[in-house]
Amino acid sequence: MHGLMMNTPLLISSLIKYAAQYHRDTQVVTRTLEGPIRFTDFEKINERAKKLACGLLEFGIKSGDRIATLAWNTDRHLELYYGISGIGAICHTLNLRLSDEELIYIINHAEDKLLFYDHTLKIRVEKISPHLKSVQKFVSISKTDQLENKDSDFFNYENLLSEKITKFDWPIFNENQAASLCYTSGTTGSPKGVLYSHRTTVIHALASCLNNVLALRVDDVVLPVVPMFHVNAWGIPYSVPISGAKLVMPGDKLDGENLFELMDIEGVTIALGVPTVWLSLLDYMDKKGRKPKALERVIIGGAAVSESMIDRFEIEYGVNVHHAWGMTEMSPIGVLNSLKPKFSKLSRANKMPTKLKQGRGIYGVELLVVDDDGKELPRDGVSSGHLLVRGPWIIDKYYKEKKSALTKDGWFDTGDIATIDHDGYMNITDRSKDIIKSGGEWISSVGLENVVVGHDAVLQAAVIGVSHPKWQERPLLICVPKGSFRPSLEEMNNYLSDKVPKMWLPDAIEWVEKLPIGATGKIVKAELRKIYKNYKL
Ligand code: ADP
Repeated sequence: MHGLMMNTPLLISSLIKYAAQYHRDTQVVTRTLEGPIRFTDFEKINERAKKLACGLLEFGIKSGDRIATLAWNTDRHLELYYGISGIGAICHTLNLRLSDEELIYIINHAEDKLLFYDHTLKIRVEKISPHLKSVQKFVSISKTDQLENKDSDFFNYENLLSEKITKFDWPIFNENQAASLCYTSGTTGSPKGVLYSHRTTVIHALASCLNNVLALRVDDVVLPVVPMFHVNAWGIPYSVPISGAKLVMPGDKLDGENLFELMDIEGVTIALGVPTVWLSLLDYMDKKGRKPKALERVIIGGAAVSESMIDRFEIEYGVNVHHAWGMTEMSPIGVLNSLKPKFSKLSRANKMPTKLKQGRGIYGVELLVVDDDGKELPRDGVSSGHLLVRGPWIIDKYYKEKKSALTKDGWFDTGDIATIDHDGYMNITDRSKDIIKSGGEWISSVGLENVVVGHDAVLQAAVIGVSHPKWQERPLLICVPKGSFRPSLEEMNNYLSDKVPKMWLPDAIEWVEKLPIGATGKIVKAELRKIYKNYKL
């Protein structure tokens, strides 16, 4: 027997419609690419998104058409998110840090019809445009550009906004329709498209707001440093309108000084991003001798956070750090770390091992750790194996692929190696392809890196396995120094000896000026493996 309740579809437009009605004058603040700060609010974002929606319809865009954006975090990009998906078209965010070849591949694969771009990226767009097979028009999202008319190939966004919106309301359609498209960054092979639906996006946004997750409040001021071209800025553009928090968009200025100033002036309470961006903010905080005045929490995910980073934020500045984990295929949030009340009695040192874990599964995401044969491993915090996930905002199939991406039992294999403890805290010990297999044992490259970055002389570190005649693989440590001091292998191993198992101690250390950083801000280990392929230990 079916329930007898309304079946109103969960549509992305309902989020901005709600915000426009109930958080009408809540500010959306943008550091524009031109420099000055621009202020708008949810009512105006809704209004302009509707004008864009009408403009797209007049242009001939249909439900299911893919529309690309190549843009930073700004209010305009937010209008595009809602204007495009709101009419059933698909907002395809392009990662502007990818190479020209990757962008061309992805745009042609997605068959995007329009490409919206920030004017600062115009030269790139002009360069790749001859190779794009499906794009009909290129639209600049900047007021400073000339307002060419719609007949030219390149024209300005403002020309597309339609004034005929008096009778327009957001259309209602099936919630399972596709809403946005994001390609994985390619660290796991060639880029593959993850196609989110309205339903998955809205449920993920609702879950994100929960108290045990981002706990977004109406008096929060939220700054996503994580780009809108990386898994929809972890869903922030969708969850913030539900919560009614003020939204602050950093544009393209993501260095410590610019972030600090914007956060300070706008009273940012919660900021989200990958570990690398926080290093530069922390250095600037050290220079100023204080935190941005209202900052309460930072959410750090995308790569493992180190103990030294948590200490710098929490001990020196009183800013709480929450570790989070997810992936493009998971919309992306899977787990978030908040300590259960029983941990409050423990000393900081005793809390730390749990705080460093990625966190507990949030409602909606089931987690499972299995061995090589697919057998479930105990949730004892020690047994590590392949991490599988299942839930309503997790991928089934990649875009244009016929086969499901799931195991025969309906789980998605994340490619991560993890443990889960009896409280449900999950700890990523490595990517399955990064783990170092040494004499039948597994060495966690992530575990080793986290300890190494706690050394005073080390700014960044990466550990890779290099081949060894006896042990099959042994760890090579590659570090970027903080200053001029570069400890020897012996000195480093002395420092590590009481912090990691003896068999983890690296066999060699290399000092480099910088590490290869990929399009999503993570160290590209595949590149390092290529460079050090024939390394002799
Ligand atoms: P890609 O898989 O292409 O690198 P994603 O941005 O989707 O792109 O990255 C997801 C992966 O990033 C996860 O599977 C995991 O390996 C890693 N990751 C994400 N968050 C964390 C974290 N907090 N700690 C360690 N690894 C993380």
